[in-house]
Amino acid sequence: MSFESLGLRAEILRAVSEKGYSTPTPIQQQAIPPILEGRDIMGGAQTGTGKTAGFTLPLLHRLMALKENADNNTNSNNSNKGRRALRALVLTPTRELAAQVAESVHLYGKYLPLKSTVIFGGVSINPQIKKLRDGIDILVATPGRLLDHVNQKTVDLSQIDILVLDEADRMLDMGFIRDIRKVLALIPRQKQTLLFSATFSNEIKRLAQDLLNSPALIEVARHNTATETVTQVIHPVDKIRKRELLSHLIGSNNWKQVLVFTRTKHGANRLSEQLKTDGITAAAIHGNKSQGARTKALADFKAGRICVLVATDIAARGLDIDQLPHVVNYELPNVAEDYVHRIGRTGRAGNEGEAMSLVCVDELKLLRDIERLIKKEIPKVVFEDYRPDPSIRPEPINNGRGKQSQHSRKQNGSRTNSNSNSPRSNANGRSNSRPNGQRSSGNRSSQRTQSAR
Ligand code: AMP
Repeated sequence: MSFESLGLRAEILRAVSEKGYSTPTPIQQQAIPPILEGRDIMGGAQTGTGKTAGFTLPLLHRLMALKENADNNTNSNNSNKGRRALRALVLTPTRELAAQVAESVHLYGKYLPLKSTVIFGGVSINPQIKKLRDGIDILVATPGRLLDHVNQKTVDLSQIDILVLDEADRMLDMGFIRDIRKVLALIPRQKQTLLFSATFSNEIKRLAQDLLNSPALIEVARHNTATETVTQVIHPVDKIRKRELLSHLIGSNNWKQVLVFTRTKHGANRLSEQLKTDGITAAAIHGNKSQGARTKALADFKAGRICVLVATDIAARGLDIDQLPHVVNYELPNVAEDYVHRIGRTGRAGNEGEAMSLVCVDELKLLRDIERLIKKEIPKVVFEDYRPDPSIRPEPINNGRGKQSQHSRKQNGSRTNSNSNSPRSNANGRSNSRPNGQRSSGNRSSQRTQSAR
C-alpha cells in the first residue's frame, strides 16, 4: 500500500515523500481512511508505531477540505472570508510530546496554507498569547496550559472541528481528567474526535464512551510487541550496588547512548549526579525540570554530547528517540505496562535493541507482575562480582513520596562506602565481572531468582 492510494492531498504527499516515507505503517494504513471519512477513532497505539503521522496527515487533509468549504460558503457575503478560526486541537500529556507533535504538524503541513502552534507550561505565556491572537488553525497543547489560556480568554475553542487526545491513558495517569473535561465542555459537541491510548483502563473506556460516536476501533501494537523484538535480561543485584553495576556496564561495554529509568524524580537526579562523579556524562529528565533543561538534556542526548539520559516514566513517554541501543531499568516500574513502554524505546523500526533491568530483592513482586503481563520469563544473568547478598530481606518499595524506612536509609548510607570503592575502576570495567551463567532458564542465577520468589 502507498500513501498515494490513501487519497491524501498532493501537498501532503509531497511533504511525506520529502520526509522519506514510502509506505504507510500499519496504524497509518488503518487510521487514515476512516479519519478521512470523518469518523471518530479509538486507537490502541504507542509511540514508535507512526501514530503521529497516522492522525496528522488526515487531520491536515480534512482541515483543508473544511477550510475550502467554509471559504466557498462565505464567498457570496464576504464578511468572514479568510478569517482564521481554531479548527483542530491536539491534547498531549507532556511538553515533549506536544513539541514533537507540533513539529510533525508543521512538517507535514508545510505546503498547506494552515497555521499551527504549540502551547505548554514551563515557559512564558506571552509569546503563546501573541501567536494565538495572530490566528491559527491547529493548536497542539498540554491540558494545564491550555486551561490557563482558556481562563485568560486568549484561546477560543468554540469552533473546533477535530479533537485529538494523544496518549489519553497517560493524561489520565497524570491527573488531567478534570482539565480535559473542562476543555471538552468548551468544545462543540459536533466534532470529529480521535482518541489514542496505549492502554484501555475503565476510566479510558468511560471517557471514550462519553466522547466518541461509533468510533472505528484500531489496534496495532499489542501490548507486548516490543517484548518480542527487544532482547531483555535481568541482572539481579543488591539495591546499594545498582549504581556501581550500571557504571560498570556502561564503562566496560563502552556504551555511548543509554536511556536509564528510575521510579522517582529524586532518584533520577541523584543517579545522574552519581554517574557524573563516576566520569560518565549524564542528565536527568523529569517533570520538575524546567522546560529549558528538559529540551537541552534531550538535545544533548540525541546529539551524543551526553551518554546517559536518566528519565522517569512520564518524562520519557513519547520521546522520539530513534534506534536507541540500550535501555536500562535502574528500578522496575510500579506499573507492569510501563515496563513495556520503557523497553519500547529500544529496538524500534526493526533495529536491534537491548533492555536490561537491575533488579533487587525488593522488586521481585514487580518482576513477577511484568513477566505475567508479557507472558514470558525474562532471562536472569548474575554478575559474579555483583551477586546479591542472600541475607538481605525484601522490604516495601519507597516511591519517593513517603518517608524512607530505616533500613533503606541505612542502605543509602552504606552506599557512600561502596562508592568510595573506586567507582572509576568500575566504569572502566573489571576483568572478573563476567556474567556467570547462560541466558537460559536452567542456569544457576535463574534458579536462584526463581527460588527467591
Ligand atoms: P510516532 O509513533 O508517531 O512517534 O513515530 C515513530 C517514528 O516513525 C518517527 O520517528 C516517525 O518519523 C517515523 N515514521 C512515521 N511514519 C513513518 C513511515 N510511514 N515510514 C517510516 N517512518 C515513519
